[in-house]
Amino acid sequence: MANRITSLFNIQYPFIQAGMIWCSGWELVAAVSNAGGLGIIGSGSMYPEILDEQIQKCQNATNKPFAVNLPMLYPDIDKHIATIIKHKVPIVFTSAGNPKTWTNHLKEHGIKVVHVVSSVKFALKAEAAGVDAIVAEGFEAGGHNGRDETTTLCLIPMVANEVKIPVIAAGGIGTGRGMLAAMNLGADAVQIGSRFVTSEESSAHQNFKQSVIDANEGDTQLTFKDITPVRLIKNEFYQKVEQAYEKCASREELIKLLGRGRAKKGMFEGDLTEGELEIGQISGLIHEIKPAGEIVKEIIEEFKSTLQEQQNGKYTF
Ligand code: NDP
Repeated sequence: MANRITSLFNIQYPFIQAGMIWCSGWELVAAVSNAGGLGIIGSGSMYPEILDEQIQKCQNATNKPFAVNLPMLYPDIDKHIATIIKHKVPIVFTSAGNPKTWTNHLKEHGIKVVHVVSSVKFALKAEAAGVDAIVAEGFEAGGHNGRDETTTLCLIPMVANEVKIPVIAAGGIGTGRGMLAAMNLGADAVQIGSRFVTSEESSAHQNFKQSVIDANEGDTQLTFKDITPVRLIKNEFYQKVEQAYEKCASREELIKLLGRGRAKKGMFEGDLTEGELEIGQISGLIHEIKPAGEIVKEIIEEFKSTLQEQQNGKYTF
């Protein structure tokens, strides 16, 4: 499968695995890249020396391209950037910040830059900042998300109409049918996160993987919209947040309730009661733990067979 995203990243399929904190370490990333997609290391939860080690392990496990996701609010971002440049990582996905800040610097070192947005306004800003592509992430997505609640179904065609650079659709995609739908809406590729949380190679805690498998439609919610919008499984911690909102808790009280390291507690240490369990709405369609390479293969096969069905005349006119 060739298009402008496969050429940009030098990969086989227009298929990207999201760089998720606490889940996307080198084993997952190398498995996805080896299967023909683009794996992304989630550097937001890694101390600088950990990222250095993870990149080296990934380079030893694959000779295919892979990327690093860099949340721009990461406290030691200059150290992460120096590590990425030192190891000649070819692609960086930036998120949660202004793409103007680092894009030129990264590009001067020959690195392709992709920025994650959740609105047309920020897609245009990212394009103006000189990024090579954007990820447009809809309301369905897990973890940190936009405030406007624009769903992937609406966001992708709106963004694709406005920008000239390639658009990667994210949020609510976890199947081949979903991938085809996103491409039909105008995307050049898809980015998939939740489906890989339950891959064998993901570094998520087994308890978290199981809670994703157990989740059904309606079991996640976007919360903390005024502080740091994040989609979570509605566990006991989430219920405490809801109760705080019902009591009209102040911003300071909410920040105190969130505390520090909630995502680590839930997703990496497996505390399903007190931790944050960041996952997308598509978790309702995720039923098993599988090797990441098989997930890539399954989604691509379903994409192709659904496309074939359409071309073979699913409709009569
Ligand atoms: P918290 O502030 O609650 O906790 C910080 C977590 O990051 C801790 O668990 C800590 O690990 C770990 N960490 C890794 N490197 C560092 C470092 N250099 N300094 C401090 N902490 C570090 O943040 P969250 O858990 O909510 O978020 C974690 C990360 O996710 C953020 O740092 C940010 O990079 C990213 N993020 C991304 C967003 C996005 O892309 N849209 C939005 C929000 C956050 P330990 O417990 O071992 O000290």
